[in-house]
Amino acid sequence: MKPPPEWTLSYDGFEPARQGLREALCTLGNGNFATRGAAEEACADEIHYPGTYLAGGFNRLQTDIAGRVVENEDLVNLPNWLPLTFRPEGGDWLNVLRDTLLSYRQMLDMRHGILHRELHVRDREGRETAITSRRLVSMHTPDLAAIEMTIRPLNWSGQMDVTTAIDGRVINAGVARYRQLNDKHLRVLETRDAGGDRILLVAETVQSHLRIAEAARTRLWRDGEPFEPERETACEDEHVEQVLRFAVSEGQSLRIEKIVSLHSGRDRAISEPAIAALASVERAGSFADLLDDHALAWKHLWDRCDIELDGPVRIQMILRLHIFHLLQTVSPHTAGLDVGVPARGLHGEAYRGHIFWDEVFILPFLNYRVPDISRALLQYRYRRLPAARRIAAELGHRGATYPWQSGSSGREESQVLHLNPRSGRWTPDNSSLQRHVSLAIAYNIWRYYEASGDLSFLASYGTEMLIEIARFWASIAEPNGHDDRYSIRGIMGSDEFHDQYPWRNEPGIDNNAYSNVMAAWLLAKVPEVLGLIHADRRHELQSELKLDDDELAYWDEVSRKLVVPFHDGVISQFERYDELEEFDWEGYRKKYGNIERLDRILEAEGDNVNRYKASKQADVLMLFYLLPLQTLEYLFRRLGYPFDIDTITRCIRYYIPRTSNGSTLSRVVHSWVLARHDRTRSWELFTEALESDISDIQGGTTAEGIHLGAMAGTVDLIQRGQTALEVRDGVLRLNPCLPQQLKGLRLRLLFRGARLELDINCDRTIVTAPYEWTRPEKIGIAEEVHPFKGGSRLEFVCEESPDGWRPVSSRSVRQVRGRSKRSERGQTSDPGRTAGRA
Ligand code: BGC
Repeated sequence: MKPPPEWTLSYDGFEPARQGLREALCTLGNGNFATRGAAEEACADEIHYPGTYLAGGFNRLQTDIAGRVVENEDLVNLPNWLPLTFRPEGGDWLNVLRDTLLSYRQMLDMRHGILHRELHVRDREGRETAITSRRLVSMHTPDLAAIEMTIRPLNWSGQMDVTTAIDGRVINAGVARYRQLNDKHLRVLETRDAGGDRILLVAETVQSHLRIAEAARTRLWRDGEPFEPERETACEDEHVEQVLRFAVSEGQSLRIEKIVSLHSGRDRAISEPAIAALASVERAGSFADLLDDHALAWKHLWDRCDIELDGPVRIQMILRLHIFHLLQTVSPHTAGLDVGVPARGLHGEAYRGHIFWDEVFILPFLNYRVPDISRALLQYRYRRLPAARRIAAELGHRGATYPWQSGSSGREESQVLHLNPRSGRWTPDNSSLQRHVSLAIAYNIWRYYEASGDLSFLASYGTEMLIEIARFWASIAEPNGHDDRYSIRGIMGSDEFHDQYPWRNEPGIDNNAYSNVMAAWLLAKVPEVLGLIHADRRHELQSELKLDDDELAYWDEVSRKLVVPFHDGVISQFERYDELEEFDWEGYRKKYGNIERLDRILEAEGDNVNRYKASKQADVLMLFYLLPLQTLEYLFRRLGYPFDIDTITRCIRYYIPRTSNGSTLSRVVHSWVLARHDRTRSWELFTEALESDISDIQGGTTAEGIHLGAMAGTVDLIQRGQTALEVRDGVLRLNPCLPQQLKGLRLRLLFRGARLELDINCDRTIVTAPYEWTRPEKIGIAEEVHPFKGGSRLEFVCEESPDGWRPVSSRSVRQVRGRSKRSERGQTSDPGRTAGRA
């Protein structure tokens, strides 16, 4: 049965220029590995780029570039397991560019996690063939993937050859601007005919010595009957191929199943990857068996993670696409791995698979859906705390500071030189000065705890990270020397356009407001967290980390005296921001059209974006994205600066027009902060952010990997944004307000282990806890706190307000028995009505 349009991403016709984009968007993965949606017969060329990436599968290579040796760690493109194609007797292998394509359709079925392709081709001799394929990367069994292909000769009979291969002749060539860098990360160790229908390829990364084994089992059916063809296996140095030869008649249906296993040396409960991969394909059931298990695993994920809208089908579909790709990058399997969440998914090679601060946009969704994944991602950070301590020590500071770009070991992986594709010049890359990444990690720890109530994580790991990060910020802050305040100098904010003052030789800017306020938040938060964990553990930690009352008192002082610069009634992005020149936005838009990457445009002109009041992305406004109004008021009061809702309004009016949105994250933040101030524009920005990848609004970047932060951020704009979900004083609070464009919204959330179901529409909001509810036995709806426990159902009448439809009065509060109807479907959501919405 054809899945409905709100569950599918479909493409009709073959468009060579869009192939890279489609491959990225049709990637299939299971949190362990992912494979781009390239055609089975495709090789890496100007149009296609089959890529397979293992979560955490990194390798380092050195390159001589611009007169120096640079070292980069990359997520390695692994041997391609897709090759599976055919040729008619005496003909050529299928080639959609050479053959006549009579029809072509590709469809990603997100509900079941299957990529479908249907094509009808005519070769040079007029032979027509219909081909359909289905592909999956098993969400159930993390080493397995499978292709089922059906080939039907429509007007010919004769001999057919099918080739099935594993191709180890791969390099990392997915990103054009990295092509001057060394790209050969793999050494193939072995190719083998493993007997009968199995082939094997074993490779190892050249520096990290990660062993990878891929095994494939290929079987055939003719008109539903299994048969054994003639098989010939060719084992080359880096490629293993089996050619299957048999006869077919016109109209017959030939079905092929290729079952693949990918194991690596870091897998648990195996002897070694090759033995495991061969045994796995031998044991594996049929494609249909694999599909049953896989579809069930997806059903369970969707039961937890879906968002159901009564609204435009395209919006519903894109939200699902975003959830789908998030869960393919990090899934329940992630809990057993030591991996972070790469900013560009496991979908391409951009940013080399590195992990940035983007999890600050990703965890809010996961915290209320699959908190185990959030925990695993935070554990990735915890294991790299020693590396973060080393970075802090190398900088001459105390505590820990996480790298801007993180990979295998937790050392700084940011590149030191950046190629401007416009000018062809390599320029210094100072982005590692973005120390705020650690503040995002600290923030994520707190929000994870708030949503999950996982005190054991907080006690065993979270608090230690919070203390060490706080210690770094207290250590980097220096007394000002003139106004009894502390300054933090020589770093970068989240806006990557400003890495230096135009009048200074050293990189870095001073007193970035976003970093300073978040540092004040953290320094004030640690004592609260210490009060939450058990006294024994608190004493252990304080003694192990040598955290005494004097140091806590110092943190308290710094948290009250950090500089927050202001100018013209707005918070300055950083000190002396006001001295920068205004930028000619209109003139440049006229001249260049898209000026999102103003930094590159200006560098190519011999100018420098550092000179201007021009930001790539939200920086000051991040504060209103992350922190609720009450928290901001509290922090600014402690810091001794004036702050109220009008400060937010002024900052929004000031910074949005001065931001190019060169990062896809920016629109997410702007949409969020505008929700209270300009709901129309907020919705527009939300829909623009939704289009980031599906429409490749940056003109080519999605083919190199999806933008996972923006994907998850848009989902969160519904999950938290439309429900105003937050936790205050340990109580979950909601204040839904649907915009004109949405008539209804249904979510199933997990709060501290208990399930909550929300059914919101213009007339009423229904909040249900079908099973149990967690303490405290109350819930906040529309500023009122109501008694709430397992089985409770609260129903509110909604009325139109200037902002949209809001719940106003509780019509009834009653107990329901057993499972409610809604509980059969379900969803989750997340906290945090932030200042932009308060
Ligand atoms: C943005 C960063 C982001 C990174 C990875 C950059 O373009 O400026 O904020 O972390 O992409 O997504």
